[in-house]
Amino acid sequence: MAGIYIHIPFCRKACTYCDFHFSTNFSYRKEMIDAIIEEVLLKKSEWQDFTFESIYFGGGTPSILTEDEYRRIIETVKTNFRFSTHVELTLEANPDDINPGAVKKWNSAGINRLSIGLQSLNDEELAFMNRSHTAAESLVAVDTSLQSGIADISVDLIYGSHLKTDKQWEFELNWALNSGANHLSAYALTVESKTALAHRIKKGLVPETNDEHQSNQFMKLTEISALNQWDFYEISNLCKPGHRSIHNSNYWKNKAYLGIGPSAHSYKNKTRFWNASNNAEYIKKINLGELPQTSETLSDLDLANEAILTQLRLSSGLRMDAILPFYSKWHDENKIALKKMEQNQWIKIENDTITLLSKGRLMADNISAELFIS
Ligand code: SF4
Repeated sequence: MAGIYIHIPFCRKACTYCDFHFSTNFSYRKEMIDAIIEEVLLKKSEWQDFTFESIYFGGGTPSILTEDEYRRIIETVKTNFRFSTHVELTLEANPDDINPGAVKKWNSAGINRLSIGLQSLNDEELAFMNRSHTAAESLVAVDTSLQSGIADISVDLIYGSHLKTDKQWEFELNWALNSGANHLSAYALTVESKTALAHRIKKGLVPETNDEHQSNQFMKLTEISALNQWDFYEISNLCKPGHRSIHNSNYWKNKAYLGIGPSAHSYKNKTRFWNASNNAEYIKKINLGELPQTSETLSDLDLANEAILTQLRLSSGLRMDAILPFYSKWHDENKIALKKMEQNQWIKIENDTITLLSKGRLMADNISAELFIS
C-alpha cells in the first residue's frame, strides 16, 4: 500500500530553525490551492495501479487552510485515487489553530489524526524559536482535540536547545506521554545553514548547540519512554503500543508515496521525484499543464544505502537481506567494523538483523556512514 503527502507551503511566521519550504506571503494562496488540485489530476493516470492507505497534510502549516480549501483537496484526492478501507488522514496543526469548532470540522471532512507542533512548553523557548503559539495554547491543544472528536494525536517536541533545561525536558516528556496523545515525535534541535538560527549563532547572539546536552536529553527520552512503556519504534518517534504512524512507517519500509505541492517528493518503482521548491515556479508549470518535477532512478547500491540509513533508525533494525542481494560482499567488508560496534555496545546482531542499542542511537548517522557502500 502507498501514501499521499500534500505540502501546504504557507506559515504565519518563520521559525528560526526551519529549513522546510514555506512562505509567509499568502497573496497567491488561491492560485496555490488550485495548482495543488490540478497536480492531483495531472498525476492521476500514473498512480492508478496503487492503493493508498494514508493521506498526510504537511508543510508549512496546513492547519491554516480554510474548510473549503481542505475539503476541495480531500475530495479531489479521494475521487481520483483508490484507497484501502481504513485511511489514516493526518493534518499537521499548530496549537494556535486548534479550537473545538476547527477540530469538529476537520473531523467531519475525514481527518482522523492530528500531528500537533508543540515543540516546547516554555514561552521563552517558543519566543526564541519564533513559534506562533504560546505554552498555554500548547497545554490545552491535545485535550481540545480529544474532546472535539479526534482521538489519534501525535505531538512534536524539540529538545537540546540552550534554553531547554534537563528539568524542563523531563517535565515536557512526562506531560506529553500522559496528555492523552498516543504518539510523540521528538527531534534534536538541528542548526541548518541559511536559517535565522544559524545566522544568530554565527553572530554570537545565541550559543551553539551542545552535543553532550543533546545526548543527555535523548537518553532521558529513552528512559521516560521505557518507564511509560511506549514503543520507541524509530529514533525520533514513539507511541503507545499499537499507534505507530502508518504514513511515516511506509516511508521507512521503502513503500511508494505520492507527493503533491511545491517541494513534495514522490517515490515509486525505484524512482524518486521531487517538485520545485519555489511557489511561483510550481504554480506556473502546473498552469501550463506540466509537472514541475525532477527525477532520479536509484541504483541497487543506492537502495541498499537507503536501507542502511532508514532501517538502522528503526527498533526492528537493519535486515542484512535488505543489502546482501544488492552487494554480497557487504558483510565481509564490514565484519571488523561490526564486531567493534558490538563490543562498544552500540549495536546488537541477532537473526541477521542489526539493531542499534541506546548508545548507538546517539550516533546513528555516524554508524550508517561507516556502513555505507561507496
Ligand atoms: S510552522 Fe513549521 S514549517 Fe512553518 S516555519 Fe515553523 S517549523 Fe517551519
